[in-house]
Amino acid sequence: MKSNDKYLVYENWRAERKAVVHKSTCGHAREGLDRLQDYTAPNDRWYGYFDKLTEAISFAALMPNRQLKICGVCLQEEKARI
Ligand SMILES: [Zn+2]
Repeated sequence: MKSNDKYLVYENWRAERKAVVHKSTCGHAREGLDRLQDYTAPNDRWYGYFDKLTEAISFAALMPNRQLKICGVCLQEEKARI
């Protein structure tokens, strides 16, 4: 893992009540990079950047009523270790 990796947290409370941790380079996070300042979307929200994976996970774990998930695409190795 490169030390300059950054992490994002994706929160969704409509389709699924979940909080997903992604690397900022993940294809799924591309939308999030444009929406980090958008706090008005009705269904979901992105948070970031986090410098450490542990920070992103801790943040996501604190969200009430959200299932914490680790992206199986960009964080496959890390997911296996957790
Ligand atoms: Zn991802």
